[in-house]
Amino acid sequence: MGKPTGFIEFLRELPSDRSPLDRIQDWNEIHQHMPEDKLRTQGARCMDCGIPFCHSGTLISGMASGCPVNNLIPEFNDLVYRGLWHEALDRLHKTNNFPEFTGRVCPAPCEGSCVLGINNPPVTIKNIECSIVDKGWSEGWIKPEPPTKRTGKKVAIIGSGPAGLSAAAQLNKSGHWVTVYERADRPGGLLMYGIPNMKLEKEEVVLRRIKVLEDEGITFICNAEVGKDLPVETLLKDFDSVVLCVGATKPRDLPIAGRELKGIHFAMDFLTANTKAVLNQSSNGNFISAQDKDVVIIGGGDTGTDCVGTSLRHGCKSLVQLEILPQPPQERSPDNPWPEWPKVYRLDYGQEEAAAKFGDDPRGYLTTATHFEGDENGQVKAVHTVEVQWEKNEKGQFIAQHIPGTEKVLSAQLVLLAMGFLGPEQPLLDALGVDRDARSNVKADHEKYVTSIPGVFAAGDCRRGQSLVVWAFNEGRGAARECDRYLMGSTDLP
Ligand SMILES: Cc1cc2nc3c(=O)[nH]c(=O)nc-3n(C[C@H](O)[C@H](O)[C@H](O)COP(=O)(O)OP(=O)(O)OC[C@H]3O[C@@H](n4cnc5c(N)ncnc54)[C@H](O)[C@@H]3O)c2cc1C
Ligand code: SF4
Repeated sequence: MGKPTGFIEFLRELPSDRSPLDRIQDWNEIHQHMPEDKLRTQGARCMDCGIPFCHSGTLISGMASGCPVNNLIPEFNDLVYRGLWHEALDRLHKTNNFPEFTGRVCPAPCEGSCVLGINNPPVTIKNIECSIVDKGWSEGWIKPEPPTKRTGKKVAIIGSGPAGLSAAAQLNKSGHWVTVYERADRPGGLLMYGIPNMKLEKEEVVLRRIKVLEDEGITFICNAEVGKDLPVETLLKDFDSVVLCVGATKPRDLPIAGRELKGIHFAMDFLTANTKAVLNQSSNGNFISAQDKDVVIIGGGDTGTDCVGTSLRHGCKSLVQLEILPQPPQERSPDNPWPEWPKVYRLDYGQEEAAAKFGDDPRGYLTTATHFEGDENGQVKAVHTVEVQWEKNEKGQFIAQHIPGTEKVLSAQLVLLAMGFLGPEQPLLDALGVDRDARSNVKADHEKYVTSIPGVFAAGDCRRGQSLVVWAFNEGRGAARECDRYLMGSTDLP
């Protein structure tokens, strides 16, 4: 703790994002950097608490409290305050293989449990993390570091999302030969084709890191769907161990009248095709365009927000986002105390942009769709909605009851379904014969990661259900540790 009185002297400050009306004109990242002296001042606000809750990474009431990869936060804050950037980067890489990803997209549960946050705005941990690693890249400090010895063992990783990437990086560090199979045409999983460019740039940030992993000796094979292009028997025969990191990609549908109409799409079909078009610099219509359309997005979470930001960049005519849950409170409620993740109202980047363009947050809370209406060509033209109230049924479960008289009709030529995911796709898991849990996820304990088949491990969303990038890192690193232990009898991996 370089400056014992920093938290008293300095206020929390973040770099301003690009202005909403400017940034919806392009696909570039919305965040900007802060000058170094200001970052050092922000580092000085850290109190180096006796018990740094920010670094603990535990689940409280089902939500992350503290950093799930246990970043050494007070240590890097202090190093930044003292201007020791290279040392700060080394500290960061001890616990996080890819801080430039979390530094951009993590919701920062660390800040929700920062001790200073009890009665003051928390330390800007996420921005400091991002600044350290971005400086590392710009100074040329991040270079391939291939292992000095190889074990001769071969590991296949299925899926190149954050879980697969972190597992690959760790196993390669231990000297195993790692091959990552990815069915998409580019590696990165949802870092590539879920989270849009304006939150996380693809060539400049995601592929830059994957190039380093390749130079360290990891083989990426894209356009290769395991179970189709590569039979599971070959996989199990050719490799000493397998780590499943296939994500939870089965979308939740909305089976109401009119669902079959044209113009109603799953959010991921919209987002994936859009990112491909941006990367291929194509405007050949090979994506679902929101241009000049009234857009209704069903689902108020992160995926819905990304659909908002993407629709605005296409130039949509109007935009509404339906959320069946109530609007969260402005401040923590009494049953959501520190250090729990604060369940409070947030104006995320997409809603901020929609408010700048159309005058208001586009989210309509406590509202659901009852049916879709089409025109004579079978194209959606409206979404019928109703407000709900949550009531307990006789079994004590909360049920959304429709409120009569609150029905509305929203004009819509494009409807995007962003209501979450139901777990991993099953065919590959069936072919392998791994056990599943009650939610159809691969059955394997957290911290153990071994499936019902010895030598086959599972990590990330396919094991824990749709979650966060930082949890996928936690799981990928953990699965690598257990896989290394299985292959070698013991492990030095954390
Ligand atoms: C639109 C969207 C936005 C999000 N935004 C955020 C955010 O801002 N911050 C955050 O922390 N989290 C966010 N999340 C959640 C986060 O992206 C996921 O929790 C995380 O990516 C899970 O990582 P994973 O590696 O387990 O799976 P994934 O990232 O889903 O990767 C799985 C990979 O496996 C591949 N695959 C599947 N089956 C096969 C097969 N048979 N053969 C070969 N490859 C296969 C898939 O193509 C995919 O590339 C978002 C999710 C979505 C959908
Ligand atoms: S990875 Fe997320 S939780 Fe951990 S320090 Fe970074 S922003 Fe905070």
